[in-house]
Amino acid sequence: MVSVKEYVKNLYNTEISQCTDRQLYEALLDMTQKAAREKESSQGKKKVYYISAEFLIGKLLSNNLINLGMYDQVKKELEASGRNLAQIEEAEPEPSLGNGGLGRLAACFLDSIATLGLNGDGIGLNYHLGLFKQEFENNLQKENVNPWIEEHSWLNRRDVSYEIKFGGLTVRSCLYDIAVTGYRNRTNQLHLFDIDTVDEGIVTDGICFDKEDIKKNLTLFLYPDDSDEKGHLLRIFQQYFMVSNGAQYILDECVQKGCNLHDLPDYAVIQINDTHPTMVIPEMIRLLTEKGIELDEAIDIVSRTCAYTNHTILAEALEKWPVHYLKKVVPQLVPIIEILDDKARRKTERWQIETGKASDNSLAIIDPYDNVHMAHIDIHYGFSVNGVAYLHTEILKNNELHKFYELYPEKFNNKTNGITFRRWLLHCNHLLADWITSRIGNGYKQNAAELEKLGALADDEEALRQVQAIKHQNKKILKDYLLRTQGIEIDDHSIFDIQVKRLHEYKRQQMNALYVIHKYLEIKGGKLPKRPVTIMFGAKAAPAYVIAKDIIHLILCLEQLVNNDPDVSPYLKVVMVENYNVTLAEKLIPACDISEQISLASKEASGTGNMKFMLNGAVTLGTMDGANVEIAELVGRDNIYIFGQHSETVIEHYKKGDYCSRSYYENNEDIKAAIDFITGPQLMEIGHKENLERLSGELLNKDWFMTLLDFEDYVKVKEQAYADFEDRDAWMRKMLVNISKAGFFSSDRTIAQYNEDIWRLD
Ligand SMILES: *Cc1c(COP(=O)(O)O)cnc(C)c1O
Repeated sequence: MVSVKEYVKNLYNTEISQCTDRQLYEALLDMTQKAAREKESSQGKKKVYYISAEFLIGKLLSNNLINLGMYDQVKKELEASGRNLAQIEEAEPEPSLGNGGLGRLAACFLDSIATLGLNGDGIGLNYHLGLFKQEFENNLQKENVNPWIEEHSWLNRRDVSYEIKFGGLTVRSCLYDIAVTGYRNRTNQLHLFDIDTVDEGIVTDGICFDKEDIKKNLTLFLYPDDSDEKGHLLRIFQQYFMVSNGAQYILDECVQKGCNLHDLPDYAVIQINDTHPTMVIPEMIRLLTEKGIELDEAIDIVSRTCAYTNHTILAEALEKWPVHYLKKVVPQLVPIIEILDDKARRKTERWQIETGKASDNSLAIIDPYDNVHMAHIDIHYGFSVNGVAYLHTEILKNNELHKFYELYPEKFNNKTNGITFRRWLLHCNHLLADWITSRIGNGYKQNAAELEKLGALADDEEALRQVQAIKHQNKKILKDYLLRTQGIEIDDHSIFDIQVKRLHEYKRQQMNALYVIHKYLEIKGGKLPKRPVTIMFGAKAAPAYVIAKDIIHLILCLEQLVNNDPDVSPYLKVVMVENYNVTLAEKLIPACDISEQISLASKEASGTGNMKFMLNGAVTLGTMDGANVEIAELVGRDNIYIFGQHSETVIEHYKKGDYCSRSYYENNEDIKAAIDFITGPQLMEIGHKENLERLSGELLNKDWFMTLLDFEDYVKVKEQAYADFEDRDAWMRKMLVNISKAGFFSSDRTIAQYNEDIWRLD
């Protein structure tokens, strides 16, 4: 490897010490790109194509330096010239190509695929303005554009272009690649399709734009607002653009390797990440028949090539598109989808007759209202259907997708999610990673199961004190960062209780907010906590999700009220960080004491935030939902705080429709006081009547995600966690146990299982 000094000399004809941070960032970017290219590999006949609407990759510089084995030398060299890598990194914009867990999972998977030396690329879209940038104004979320693409960036333009035909419109695509470096292994690619005619200038007033001007808007935003027909159509345009490009690219690449198309499954496996890329199935069938393959065989080939990952059991998130929308945007796919529907119906009927089951059309692709159920296409015409945590897969098999499971038991499998330890430990928590290395060596970096060795230190006083000192150091780093970047002041001796994730009612940020009110009232009433606590939130709400934005409003109003009340602020602080993203996650997670994972049981498919926190020595306060169940099993009940109703009970409530939030309100004084407070004089003075009344009405009259069902138990168990925090020795042990048991949640393990059971790459 050439030195940074030489590189900078060649590039700018000057010394490291004379460069701006931006110049150094760009020099390091070039150096890294070069080193990554040297590790590109074409090895492997069969390749996995991980196709996803989102890739929440985060900043890339440090991660690539770590993976390429350049980090230590670069850091040392910079330091010798008085420069600091962390500061240089601040010049790097965070790519805005994802929304939440699903997109972050895709990014972790790409890292692990390369790290395990597997042949696998990502396929997605190059959204110019990303999801949106969140700003707070008047205690409300305001959405703004989030441009992130710079002249000098990680995007490498390729000489690849396809013609993509829509109903009444044809566009020409272009392609940008981002190198995906494996940890001490090969470099793969993330392929991001785009069109040259996109025009950021059409956006006005936040994130408003003409939704019908497809040539200019096609790849502007991830998940454009789809609360009207034009928005729906634009999403279909985007999805088809992604899959048609992807399918053409895959076929070209396979043919180049000698594939005769009949043997496509020997060359390619397409992992469909949630339902957004589902149209790759009919599109691939269409392309194969265009190339002369008989329809029945094309369907068979594609069915042996595609595998589907389900990410949610929320009914509203399972996409269904009206046939007449598809007729407008992708008329060429409609006859194929109709044939797929017909075949699926006949297959289902035959099976129902054979097994003596009652006839039932709920497994059809096109329903009686002429909606196309995208997940049904994936299940009938993919060879694998996987859930993302043990509990989630069980719920799919026994409830949500039960009939499909009876029809295709062999297709269903579980792949519990994971996270890449390179980013979520080595990069974001150098102090802890170095300490672990000093105790158990380097092996855990490639074999995460070795973290178990830390278990031997559970009674080692010195080791435990070191872990605690690292946590405190990280709390100070976060404190400085929040002060510098967001003007927020926090006390590093308080308990850091953190809930960061997308805002959604099922994740129940509103329950945590009600706790804040409860605590505020207690402190006002003279019941003072032993130790101050800082409750931190970070969350974006979908722009059209009204109640989610009301919850943000409530939290921001509470922040203003609590932090400015001299009776309360010495004991309780509320912080809502602006524009939660990967960069912020990397600062917040290492500093956390208590990780809030409080979704309504049965609703969170897996969660991956829970894993990141655990790995960094936070103790989980959570429900028996998603991967929390597996965390609890691994760490044992002494090292996690579990509360709330179990998933079976919750599912029963939904079946019977017997949950009534108002009865909880009427029968519990604390709940009543907290709910009444939302529309009481103090918050009404700070906030907006419309938002606060709508939210309190929602909680009292509907509360679809059963906030009040678990509130009492939540308060009790949270207080227990706060009390236990005071037994510092016992708490340190809990931290250590959590870290030592986190190895299972390495995405290297997850990817090894995908390969073993689904992909079968050589
Ligand atoms: C990990 C991650 C998520 C997912 O968090 P959950 O708690 O699993 O919902 C969302 N956003 C960012 C920025 C993340 O890093």
